[in-house]
Amino acid sequence: MGCTCNSNDKEKLFCSGVLVENRPGAILPPQEAWENKKGGYVIIECPQRIPCNPCATSCPTGAVKPFADINDVPEIDYEKCTGCGLCVAKCPGLACFVVDLTYGADEAVIKLPYELEPKPVKGQKVKCLNRVGEEVADGEVYAVAEPLKDQTTVVSVVIPKKLVGEIRAIKVVC
Ligand code: SF4
Ligand code: SF4
Repeated sequence: MGCTCNSNDKEKLFCSGVLVENRPGAILPPQEAWENKKGGYVIIECPQRIPCNPCATSCPTGAVKPFADINDVPEIDYEKCTGCGLCVAKCPGLACFVVDLTYGADEAVIKLPYELEPKPVKGQKVKCLNRVGEEVADGEVYAVAEPLKDQTTVVSVVIPKKLVGEIRAIKVVC
C-alpha cells in the first residue's frame, strides 16, 4: 500500500524531525561495503540540529563522530561501525537503526527500538510498518535485547531486503 500522507502532512512530520521518505538527512552506509558487512551498519535518521548526543557518547568505537557542539547532527565513520546497536538502545529520538543485509538472498535483519508493551518474543510474527505507520510487510522477530537502565529495548526483525529503506517500526500482533 502506498503512503496516504499528503505533501503537507509529510512536511509537518519532517519539520518535527521525522523522515517520512528517503530524502537528504538520512545517513546511509556505503552500499558496496554494506552488502557484505556481517552484523550490519547503522542508519541514522536525525536531520535536524537538536541538543542531543547519546548516539555519539554511547558508541563504543567512535563510529558516531564526537560532537563539537551538542546541537550537531550525527556523522558516521562507517569503517568503525560494528553494528552493535548500542546507539539504537540509547537514542531518545528512536532515530537509529542497524540493518544487516547478509542474512539471506531476499531477507535482511533490522535492529530497531521498541518502547511499547507487550514486548515481542523471538520467533514471533509481527507487522512491519513504514515511517508513517503503514503496514508494508510481515516480519519475524530474530532476537530481543533487554534494555539496560535508561535504554530502549532493541528488537531484531527479519524483513524483506527490498524494504530496508522503508521499514522503521513494527506492530506486535497478539
Ligand atoms: S551500531 Fe554500534 S558501532 Fe555502529 S554507530 Fe551504533 S553504537 Fe556505534
Ligand atoms: S541520540 Fe538520536 S535523537 Fe539524539 S542526536 Fe543522536 S540520532 Fe539524533
